[in-house]
Amino acid sequence: MVLVNTGRPFQDSPFFYIDVGNSPLSTVNYQLSCITLARHNMKITEHIKNATGTLLSYEILPPLKGKDIGSIYNHLDPLMEFKPSWINVTYHRTEAVFKKRTDGSIEKSKIRKRPGTVGICAALKTHYAVDTTPHIICGGFSKNDTEDALIDLNFLGIDNILALRGDAAKSEGIFIPEPNGHRYALDLVKQVANLNKGIYLENDDITDGIATDFCIGVAGYPEMHFEATSMQSDLSFLKAKVDAGADYIMTQMFFDNQKFFDFVKSCRELGINVPIIPGLKPLTRKKQLSILPKIFNVEIPKDLADAINQTENDLDAEKVGTEWLIQQSKELQAFGVPVLHYYTLGKPQTIKNVVREIF
Ligand SMILES: Cc1cc2nc3c(=O)[nH]c(=O)nc-3n(C[C@H](O)[C@H](O)[C@H](O)COP(=O)(O)OP(=O)(O)OC[C@H]3O[C@@H](n4cnc5c(N)ncnc54)[C@H](O)[C@@H]3O)c2cc1C
Repeated sequence: MVLVNTGRPFQDSPFFYIDVGNSPLSTVNYQLSCITLARHNMKITEHIKNATGTLLSYEILPPLKGKDIGSIYNHLDPLMEFKPSWINVTYHRTEAVFKKRTDGSIEKSKIRKRPGTVGICAALKTHYAVDTTPHIICGGFSKNDTEDALIDLNFLGIDNILALRGDAAKSEGIFIPEPNGHRYALDLVKQVANLNKGIYLENDDITDGIATDFCIGVAGYPEMHFEATSMQSDLSFLKAKVDAGADYIMTQMFFDNQKFFDFVKSCRELGINVPIIPGLKPLTRKKQLSILPKIFNVEIPKDLADAINQTENDLDAEKVGTEWLIQQSKELQAFGVPVLHYYTLGKPQTIKNVVREIF
């Protein structure tokens, strides 16, 4: 008899026994690895369907180039005891950098400061036996690059993705698609949905291509995307992404739950029926009161801003932000959200302080 920790939501109880009789050790190991695989080879929609309560997920950034995977494990280790159902890993496009040559002329090159999204996803899957969701973006990718990336993910057994347009390159200010790349996340969703039907870009040459089985997530903005001309148009493009094959929506951060509740209501009225996962971030510094609204088009509620403004240092600001996020999370849980998704962004201890109050 072997005691197995299944984690959630594979079984109601976190532990169960399997009878291995006199089986050789290799057979036992095989059975155990099948069980582990069953737990961390699920689509996000399956996690949600099988859940008996609110699920937990995290989002991390790849480390800066030059750091090793250990920095990611150090970041996640304190958070894994709460059994996240999956971990998202963001994707960062290349940025133009300008260097002065010895002859005085300027050399332009492109570097990716945070490479490794796909490698990290594969490593986390093995290291923690947890599902991972790489973000894939349009920026810097031609359609062929995207197809190759999707084939890599498929071979790695990673079948959850979050399909995004991506931020504009810092040097460009506005989003410029790659030659033969996608302008909107909608077109990326269509490409992935096509691959899920076995339709490749050179479809005439590939007549019996395998159909992938990606579970596709897209971004949603409770307070509207900063480039959208109106909430109504933003929602209609969101609906187009869902109609094209998106299986769930993950939202931009917000600090006022009412904005999220209104957003969910508007989505449902428009006939958007997929799960909507709130993305949550703690406020930890006074500076963020002015930065976050500008960058992410989010409003900071007056009560929160006042409380943070009254603090004397970042440590106290973080305490206020943590308490706010705990209350926000509890209210969202009571509302019945399927998942609480936390942007950990270099603040594992803060997230731990929040998560241990909920899970
Ligand atoms: C949960 C989450 C995770 C993120 N992760 C990353 C990441 O890892 N890497 C990264 O670079 N960025 C990331 N972002 C940021 C995201 O890439 C930016 O917000 C980007 O500006 C928009 O991406 P999108 O997928 O929402 O774009 P889209 O859905 O393409 O929308 C972009 C804008 O165009 C409008 N629009 C959409 N379709 C059309 C159309 N057909 N015609 C006209 N207008 C249209 C929309 O209303 C919106 O204003 C993330 C955002 C969220 C919410």
